[in-house]
Amino acid sequence: MKHLRLMELDKKHFIHPTSSIQQQQENGPKVIMEQGDGIYLTDKNGNEFMDAMSSLWNVNIGHGRKELAEAAKQQMEKLAFSSAFSTFSHEPAIRLAEKIASIAPADLNAVFFTSGGSESNESAIKLVRHYWKIRGKPERRKIIGLKRAYHGVAAASTSATGIPEFWQMAGHMTTDFTHADTPYKNGTEKGIRSLRHTIETEGAEKIAAVMAEPIQGAGGVLIPPEDYLRKVRALCDEYGILIIADEVITGFGRTGKMFGLENWDFTPDLITFAKGVTSGYIPLGGVVVSDHIHNVLKEKSKGTLFHGFTYSGHPVAAAVALKNIELIEQENLVENARKMGEEMLAGFNKMKEGLEVVGDVRAVGLLGAVELMQDPDLNKHFSPDLQVGPNVIEALYERGVICRPVRYDGTDIICFAPPLIISRDQVNVLVEKLYDTVQKIQNHLDV
Ligand code: PMP
Repeated sequence: MKHLRLMELDKKHFIHPTSSIQQQQENGPKVIMEQGDGIYLTDKNGNEFMDAMSSLWNVNIGHGRKELAEAAKQQMEKLAFSSAFSTFSHEPAIRLAEKIASIAPADLNAVFFTSGGSESNESAIKLVRHYWKIRGKPERRKIIGLKRAYHGVAAASTSATGIPEFWQMAGHMTTDFTHADTPYKNGTEKGIRSLRHTIETEGAEKIAAVMAEPIQGAGGVLIPPEDYLRKVRALCDEYGILIIADEVITGFGRTGKMFGLENWDFTPDLITFAKGVTSGYIPLGGVVVSDHIHNVLKEKSKGTLFHGFTYSGHPVAAAVALKNIELIEQENLVENARKMGEEMLAGFNKMKEGLEVVGDVRAVGLLGAVELMQDPDLNKHFSPDLQVGPNVIEALYERGVICRPVRYDGTDIICFAPPLIISRDQVNVLVEKLYDTVQKIQNHLDV
């Protein structure tokens, strides 16, 4: 179909997720993508882009992998769908649960499947409340999240999210959520003090779980200080509180480890995952629970677990996930993410040395960010009117690179999460284009 006609139909019929509907009506979609290959996307006009965000932090093994298409085709032809409710089961879901248990750390060994990150967090929140109920402590319902956290847009996951803009659309749909300070830039001590204060003011005996991303993604790639997560574990143990680690972005190799939490030798009670488990080729997510929770469910829960999605453990999605994890392992993509992440960070550090407007730069594996400020030494931000972050993103887009801006606490943050298959040369192209773009904007701003 012709490009202009598609633009018209888009405006008329397509409500885009996380979008300005008004802007869409004025301008239509900025780009209509047509094809993907490796780390590149091509639009309907034939323009090629480096997908330096892995689209939505999810296309971990890159675009256009025929092996995944083949796995989907074979499974679809054999058994496209069959229930996993109650006493029904099928091989792809069983094998995927076993595979995830084998790569998840510690005693995280049992998996509940969903279709994405929000459903996974929703399920984890319901599971921890259920757990406390069957342990005879139904008053343990509260969930403590962190400010700037992103956990999704369903009812409970919206409330667990610590970015207030997400609460505005329809108000809170659930109760018993609160947020402690993020440790980012506050340091471990302040972060832990805020968490302890929140626990004590809410009442430890009413708290079901603390929920956190090992690295806050949508909040602006906010990496916790080295000892923060271990101290969260110690604090939660002190009060008998469970921990849910949201690995929706950080799972499946993104940070140079199979799961992000392995960077800090930190063990939660539950892990939620999605995105990278299928590299986005098909929707799938889930919750991994540790043995001590699974044992309570096995031994004490009576009757039916009234929680299950039609597509929990979808056979085609499970088959694609199994193939995706196989490729991540066979091609050493976790190791590649670690090495290429170091290369990317080295490039960011050169930018910091060479350009006055570059403040903090950071990356763990291939999850990284560059902060832009009027004067980083004086902690002076750019005026929001200058739109520095969006201008950098736009200029990079014009040069064929897709990445994402976040503005946090007045600082413009440019986020990067390229596919784990990226090569050294491609990292260098990315960093060179970024350097050049920021330099031009810096000159223009006359800093
Ligand atoms: N948790 C985190 C950390 C995420 O980044 C996201 C999505 N960006 C979600 C949960 C929600 O996942 P989904 O959009 O698949 O519902």
